[in-house]
Amino acid sequence: MNNQMKLAIHGGKPVRDSFLSYGKQWIDEQDIQAVTEVLRGDYITTGPQVGKFEEAIAEYVGSKYAVSFANGTAALHGACYAAGISTNDQVITTPMTFVASANCVLYMGGIPVFADIDAKTYNINPQKIEELITANTKAIIPVDFTGQPAQLDRIIKIAKENNLIVIEDAAHSLGAKYKGNKIGSISDMTMFSFHPVKHLTTGEGGIITTNNEGFYKKLLQFRTHGITRDPRQLMKQDGPWYYEMQFLGFNYRITDFQAALGISQLNKLDFFLETRKKYVEIYNSAFRDLQEINVPFQEVHSDSSWHLYIIRLNLEMLNGNRKQIYEALLKENIGVNVHYIPVHLQPYYKQLGYKKGICPEAEKLYEEIITLPLFPAMEEADVHDVIRAVRKVIHHYSKKKT
Ligand SMILES: *Cc1c(COP(=O)(O)O)cnc(C)c1O
Repeated sequence: MNNQMKLAIHGGKPVRDSFLSYGKQWIDEQDIQAVTEVLRGDYITTGPQVGKFEEAIAEYVGSKYAVSFANGTAALHGACYAAGISTNDQVITTPMTFVASANCVLYMGGIPVFADIDAKTYNINPQKIEELITANTKAIIPVDFTGQPAQLDRIIKIAKENNLIVIEDAAHSLGAKYKGNKIGSISDMTMFSFHPVKHLTTGEGGIITTNNEGFYKKLLQFRTHGITRDPRQLMKQDGPWYYEMQFLGFNYRITDFQAALGISQLNKLDFFLETRKKYVEIYNSAFRDLQEINVPFQEVHSDSSWHLYIIRLNLEMLNGNRKQIYEALLKENIGVNVHYIPVHLQPYYKQLGYKKGICPEAEKLYEEIITLPLFPAMEEADVHDVIRAVRKVIHHYSKKKT
């Protein structure tokens, strides 16, 4: 076997010399200038950029209101507060997500209930949601997994019929469309995250978009200790200094320089989205003939924002398991990842009483997936390195001998 074919994990030459991470921010001179301008000014906590950023996001997604938060998790916490989730209320979500989608329910004393996924799209299965509704169910938190919108029309119909609130976790789906409508304008509340691996970054940051004025007001007050200065909301008026803390909120505000970064990043969002899509098309056509892996299935009516590119291994055609293939790719200097460990299998959730076996499709998927690098700051040559590494490793482990 020549040294090109020998896996790096077996002492061969890796496909690339430098390590390629799975996701990374894009920061350019314009972004740096936008931030330093704010740093030289009068406001560095809440100032004029925060409102401008919120308006720009609301306009982009087509919602009436947007309320920014310190991070996406805080934003989900705020949405659960605004939705009125409290002790022992049940909220249905997917296990195939980051822990924050369920933790926000626990913060309010509520009970996350995990509905299994659709084996094709990996998104929450609406039929499973229906089966899990009880008199204590208050909300549904669907996640637009990898950027492909969940089945929102069915989910919203189920919510209407059962008087539930839909809080969409759209951490992966800024810029995505569902049946022609932008994500952020559809559910009761929608959360976006601005963590550096997401579509645009503010360092840490998150936002809730909504068309509901009541939710909007609660979100504003929640992110600043439950305090209001709005004369229409005050119970009395002691003087111009007067404010009231009316419920227990948090300090979840974003800074003005982060908001300035967000505005600058938003100018590039369409380019970011196009670049992700272009790389996905290159991956898809390069893997078309590889029966040992499945490329992501896409619904025809939705337009994914492609946060993640996940391959699913056809284990019966392979001599290795996911761990071996993952480790082999890593040694080729490809920054692979796994999204996600099903939330109910986390030690904390197990200790709360959640059991393995409650979401068999998600549990099976978890054993078979690998996330490949995908971000606008990677070059087309990097995409081809990933393809060469996948083909090399899959060829090595394939049962099919050619
Ligand atoms: C990133 C992410 C979050 C949390 O966002 P942070 O800004 O990191 O707090 C929540 N849900 C999903 C699905 C995510 O990917």
